[in-house]
Amino acid sequence: MSKYDAVIIGAGPAGLNAGLRLTSAGLPLSVLLIDKITPWEKPIPCAEGVGRLGFEEALLVDPSWIRLVISKAKFYSPDGTCVTNTDANKGFIIDRAKMQRDLAEKLAERGVETRLGVKAKSVSPVDSGVRNITLDGGEVISARVVVDASGPVSLLGRGEPICWKPYDLEPGYFVVADNVGCEDDAIHIYTGQKIAPGGYAWVFPRGGGAATIGVVVGKNQVKGANIRDLLNDFLSKRFPGANVLTYFAGSIPCGYRRGNIALPGLIKCGDAANATNPISRAGIVEALMSGALAGSAAFDMLSASTAKQAKKICRDYEKSWLEKRGARHLKLAKAKESLSKVPDEDYNTAARTLQAMSADKISMAKIFGVSLARFPRLAWALRHLM
Ligand SMILES: Cc1cc2nc3c(=O)[nH]c(=O)nc-3n(C[C@H](O)[C@H](O)[C@H](O)COP(=O)(O)OP(=O)(O)OC[C@H]3O[C@@H](n4cnc5c(N)ncnc54)[C@H](O)[C@@H]3O)c2cc1C
Repeated sequence: MSKYDAVIIGAGPAGLNAGLRLTSAGLPLSVLLIDKITPWEKPIPCAEGVGRLGFEEALLVDPSWIRLVISKAKFYSPDGTCVTNTDANKGFIIDRAKMQRDLAEKLAERGVETRLGVKAKSVSPVDSGVRNITLDGGEVISARVVVDASGPVSLLGRGEPICWKPYDLEPGYFVVADNVGCEDDAIHIYTGQKIAPGGYAWVFPRGGGAATIGVVVGKNQVKGANIRDLLNDFLSKRFPGANVLTYFAGSIPCGYRRGNIALPGLIKCGDAANATNPISRAGIVEALMSGALAGSAAFDMLSASTAKQAKKICRDYEKSWLEKRGARHLKLAKAKESLSKVPDEDYNTAARTLQAMSADKISMAKIFGVSLARFPRLAWALRHLM
């Protein structure tokens, strides 16, 4: 049986950044990175939007990963009233495939063994200081620490007291299209019960008039909705001239609850730890950040000599995630449900009020402020954020 100090399952943003942090001290550790596919070979089903500040905080950004710089977000209320928020901090549309391939290459330079096209079927409970990972095909490998960065649906660790399943898993469906004719420096978010019940529709530019156009729908509303019909309806009404190149589907874990995200010998991060922002549904920066914390925790766990020390490392890791993003995500997860119950008319009225203000006076704080002051149902929904 092959034995490793650490095995990282998943070569997405979380697993790759965990690997970078785990190997940053340059110690001679045996580390294996596996993924059931080669993630950068095919287009990654993602709109690839990130906030600049968080992205640059999470890792050293290579300029070649940036497709476009975004300077404004345009929010559309259900009746189409548009409110523009210009963000001095800016955001990016990135090229995830390039970023992930480059990060995997960096890990290989540091001596990390990579096996692609290899799926982990299960991770055993810890026994004599190691966990066994059973791979598709029956091979078993062992590791002193497993970092589970396998995304939302692989359910590794099932049966143990750890968050092994996704909370509030929402479907996302989108197209890459050209001839959309959108500006290259703005993202567009559309709300409305008829457009995307419990979620939103988005248009994120890709450059040269191309864009990803998609819909994410709330888990509680999805039963009554056909997401493909919603997307096609949105496309035909708002972008009749768009030339659809490809359809993509994916799932986003959009809830966050307190609960174990680590056990001795098993550390979860990224979507596997429900790290996504429950309202914006953004998870790239969150995966990179939680991956970095998980990599540090894995490194510390390799030098833990007692179960007590290992448990403390788990607690410290959870605490660090709570401080970084988790505590905020707890509030957002509560606010999300209430926001989905606010009638469309309230959003229309709030948007019209904001639209009447001059653009340079509109900020996210102003958007929340107006909503709170004038629309009690919106204010009540947003109370979780206070
Ligand atoms: C439609 C859609 C649009 C999105 N748009 C945005 C956006 O614009 N901005 C943003 O910030 N976030 C976005 N997200 C969310 C974002 O994609 C995720 O939050 C992010 O990819 C999480 O990174 P991760 O590393 O945790 O997981 P992933 O990126 O899912 O990586 C997990 C990896 O593990 C591998 N894997 C899974 N199971 C196994 C297994 N059993 N064995 C071995 N390998 C396995 C997978 O092949 C995959 O490569 C979007 C999500 C969807 C679905």
